[in-house]
Amino acid sequence: MTELGATTEPGRDAGLAKKLFIKTFGCQMNVYDSARMADVLAPLGYAPAAGPEAADMIILNTCHIRDKAAEKVFSELGRLKPMKLARARAGGDLIIAVAGCVAQAEGAEIQRRAPHVDIVMGPQTYHRLPELVARATRAAGGAGGRGILDTEFPAEPKFDGLPEAAAPQGISAFLTVQEGCDKFCTFCVVPYTRGAEYSRPPADLVAEAGRLVAQGAREITLLGQNVNAYRAAGPDGRSWGLGRLIRALADLPGLARLRYTTSHPADMDDDLVAAHAEVPLLMPFLHLPVQSGADRVLAAMNRRHRAADYRRVVDRLRRARPDIALSSDFIVGFPGEDEADFAATLALIEAVGYAQAYSFKYSIRPGTPAATLPDQVPAAVKAARLERLQALLRDQQAAFNRAAVGRTLPVLLERAGRHDGQLAGRSPYAQAVDVAAPEGLLGSVVPVAILAARPNSLAGRLAAADRQVPA
Ligand code: SAM
Ligand code: SF4
Repeated sequence: MTELGATTEPGRDAGLAKKLFIKTFGCQMNVYDSARMADVLAPLGYAPAAGPEAADMIILNTCHIRDKAAEKVFSELGRLKPMKLARARAGGDLIIAVAGCVAQAEGAEIQRRAPHVDIVMGPQTYHRLPELVARATRAAGGAGGRGILDTEFPAEPKFDGLPEAAAPQGISAFLTVQEGCDKFCTFCVVPYTRGAEYSRPPADLVAEAGRLVAQGAREITLLGQNVNAYRAAGPDGRSWGLGRLIRALADLPGLARLRYTTSHPADMDDDLVAAHAEVPLLMPFLHLPVQSGADRVLAAMNRRHRAADYRRVVDRLRRARPDIALSSDFIVGFPGEDEADFAATLALIEAVGYAQAYSFKYSIRPGTPAATLPDQVPAAVKAARLERLQALLRDQQAAFNRAAVGRTLPVLLERAGRHDGQLAGRSPYAQAVDVAAPEGLLGSVVPVAILAARPNSLAGRLAAADRQVPA
């Protein structure tokens, strides 16, 4: 979960300034969307608020992927109710908006359970925020909500209606290149909440990436629910896939690193795999969800690949870039998963070997095909399987981190570290690295001798520049 204050244009009339607080739940795409919502509201005079108490408007940018994620939003709304009431009693006003995937999936339910919410808007409509805020401002304020709902999938792509990013994202920036999903995995809400696949034009992306670099970004992570399904007409009149886009972005002067997430195994085409061999800026780390190692379960999930297909994709990637490190998503306890299926997942993990991974208990999502499947797995069985799976993944991550000790890795220094005099950064393999270094090195890629491995991070010291290994 991340929190973000809005920014305002330099030189705005401070007297007009209102305060905006955005709380972001869920994935990196939501983090990017929150930054863009702040950009949309900056021209209206909304400046960052340090916390919700100081805000004139609060946006919860929500995630619907699992039941727990959605329930967190209702708890948060419960906490905001007395704040809105107190503000109204004092003669003030607080606009509360719910954005993102919970808003899309449960718009009417939010208005029923939390009538103090003023604006409910889906992920495809935040370019209309100025109009929605104007409607809310015209309506009477107070302790009750204004009941504004916009969960359409508009014909005009929202990216065309967004202003250029006003606020620098920092040294490591996100760039959404693709949205939506046409895969319809039977457990997943994304095709319903984010809509059909859409890829942004390459020229827009090269321009936006150039602005990010001009604002100080050294690393850009290309985002999409299905990022490697990216396909759009290039300026050369040809159809560009993600590999071609990566090659174009790699030419941007000043950019040091590129990453992309999240990929589907079935969309890993030859050009993208080749980019891992040929583009030095493309980091040797890939999040490639597999969900299960059992073909029976993969078929019931409608994943469009078998375990062996996934293994073949991994082999192709490793031939292209032998040191590539992998991450994945796993779901345990999908309806009908038995002990043999679960053992097949453990076997796949043993065979592939992961540097890190995310794993979840299957969570029923109303409206998805798997929600009504027979043979739902009991909660205790799911919990026990998750524990076994996570123990294996933890061991693999610890071993991967231990293997870095004694090596010198190029680290992009991104922010202040945990202790005074320390900076924190990432290795090419996405490991967090702490190192004693002067602040002036922020934004540099420096060689770091790795001295120690912790379960989730590494510690090292600056090494002589001539010992840097290229990556
Ligand atoms: N598009 C990506 C893919 O192809 O896997 C990831 C999409 S989703 C935002 C992130 C992860 O949430 C999924 O990979 C899956 O492991 C998990 N997930 C999605 N729906 C779930 C559900 N109903 N129960 C448990 N985990 C779920
Ligand atoms: Fe969801 Fe499957 Fe699409 Fe990923 S590929 S977003 S898991 S439907």
